Amino acid sequence: MNDCLFCRISAKKNPADIIYEDSDAVAFIDINPQAPVHVLIIPKKHISTALEITPEDNALVGHLFQVAVKIAAEKGIDKQGFRLVINTNSAAGQTVFHIHLHLLGGRQMHWPPG
Ligand code: 5GP
Ligand code: ZN
Repeated sequence: MNDCLFCRISAKKNPADIIYEDSDAVAFIDINPQAPVHVLIIPKKHISTALEITPEDNALVGHLFQVAVKIAAEKGIDKQGFRLVINTNSAAGQTVFHIHLHLLGGRQMHWPPG
């Protein structure tokens, strides 16, 4: 999808601070970080929202979590704790319609989130 920002980042048509990549996923630093560690983990496959995840994506979505945990360990925030978030549609504040897992950490998180 040429008009999708995260497809463009995945295809290296738009710049991003990419910290991890494999055949199925890419992870990069959020441009407007909400915590000392704020990484976005995306599938290379275009999936607009969590509502479009199908059973054939189960392994892919599980892989995104594995990548997120690996990055959390590399960043040294695994023991203290971190948050994984997928905003879905407007009431949750989704602004980019290509699914992404937010990895947030490096500070105390509050609950409930705003
Ligand atoms: P959402 O609100 O859809 O859950 O999250 C979208 C995230 O993408 C936001 O945290 C926002 O800061 C980030 N973002 C938007 N545009 C860009 C961009 O061009 N580059 C990077 N690295 N992050 C972006
Ligand atoms: Zn996309």
